[in-house]
Amino acid sequence: MPDTAAATLLIDGRWQSAPATFDVVDPASLAVVGQAADAGPERARDALAAAARAARGWAGADPETRSGHLRAAAAGIRARQGELAALLSRENGKPLAEANGELAGAARMLEWAAEEGRRAYGRVTPANAAGPGLVLRAPVGPVLAITPWNFPASMLIRKVGLALAAGCPVIAKPAEQTPLIATALLEIVQDTGLPGGVLQSLTTARPAELVGALLADRRLRKVSFTGSTEVGLGLLRQTGDILRRTSLEMGGHSPAIVFDDADLEAAAAGVVTGKFFNAGQSCTAVNRLYVHESVRDDLLSLIEKKTAALKVGRGDAEGTDVGPLIDEAGLAKVENQVADAVGKGARVLVGGNRWTDSALPGHFFEPTVLDGVTPDMLISREETFGPVLAVSAFRTDDEAVELANSTDYGLAAYVFGTDLRRVWRTLDRLDFGVLGVNDPAPVRPELPFGGQKNSGQEREGGAEGIEAYTETKAVALRF
Ligand code: ADP
Repeated sequence: MPDTAAATLLIDGRWQSAPATFDVVDPASLAVVGQAADAGPERARDALAAAARAARGWAGADPETRSGHLRAAAAGIRARQGELAALLSRENGKPLAEANGELAGAARMLEWAAEEGRRAYGRVTPANAAGPGLVLRAPVGPVLAITPWNFPASMLIRKVGLALAAGCPVIAKPAEQTPLIATALLEIVQDTGLPGGVLQSLTTARPAELVGALLADRRLRKVSFTGSTEVGLGLLRQTGDILRRTSLEMGGHSPAIVFDDADLEAAAAGVVTGKFFNAGQSCTAVNRLYVHESVRDDLLSLIEKKTAALKVGRGDAEGTDVGPLIDEAGLAKVENQVADAVGKGARVLVGGNRWTDSALPGHFFEPTVLDGVTPDMLISREETFGPVLAVSAFRTDDEAVELANSTDYGLAAYVFGTDLRRVWRTLDRLDFGVLGVNDPAPVRPELPFGGQKNSGQEREGGAEGIEAYTETKAVALRF
């Protein structure tokens, strides 16, 4: 257990501090709420050495034992959910209800990983004259888990749970904006009695330097990254002459298609949730709404009403629906997209400006709906990562699919409609890894999560999520 304020480094089973620390800031008030240790390359190498020493023992541990640690960690999170939610909300700014939902989801993920890890089966092939063949799945080895600030609990726990379940030691590298919730969660996982070196954590304000040192070391066998497309592609470029498994979950630019046969009330509620959840700072956030022109006015009037009713404020204030953005750069990007769209003819139906309150100097933006968005606008090409919904109308299903697919991203897409044949035909043609049908939250532990195109590679969750932490071995037996 960390015994000093900034002992946020977990290396070889011991919580440690570092000579330098960095501040953690509440994005609503901009007050400093804590410090984290600033690890550099040397600590990273210590952690990797410990992980490499622990790898064989953990790979050989009884799957039931690994599963027991994960179930105990899930129970530990559930037991302290309220306190953890307050910390998550303070550090990230999200409403308490969302923080609670994220933590409950993290616990469910651990429980699912505990179960699925025991089912990492291989195959036996039919015997030929010499003997049968076996297909085995072996843990890949030490894993680096690089996680973002927007879902600092669920993204971290998903990687840690799946990697540990598969039999791999993990070095977690939480985002510098949210190291405290990460530390609290990893402490719970560690306190289930994990052997030294199996789980480690490196907080740092110098991610490029620290990660660079780990990538240069052959003992690191897998990187699992969630974050921006720019940084993710940079990690691939740094591969050099060391090939290792790399999972990337990067940006998104999710379309939502609303057909004229949709339940408009449910579709409006789904789009508003899918957009403004986490203040729009989600890689699966609805960015672009394509609505059939015959129901455009009806749908927009419902969306307008629901959006105008959203309450902006501190995440821990009663009734808050939309918290602050994480930083000034995030806010500036949103403002720029809105100004560009309005300059090119989009109409602001709701919001459109910074949200201000003299007691809260943080980075707030009004929940915003823009109508009449066209493909030449920045918001049609760039991920927004903020509370702005861009709306366009379509006439034919082909046009809707073409508009939805007209992006380099391919993470999530949403379809609202009741004609299942039409929905099915559409799903079939959408180039996205995760599809929500009348469902604005299509992320479940049982389902593989991940994107196509520049949104990423490999999957987290589902049987695929365990497989991503294993190597395949083919065994030819001759008797
Ligand atoms: P965002 O734009 O959402 O903040 P980033 O891609 O910058 O996303 O950050 C996601 C994760 O990647 C964080 O843990 C961050 O510390 C880490 N990161 C940022 N830059 C680098 C880098 N150059 N090399 C490795 N990791 C990085």
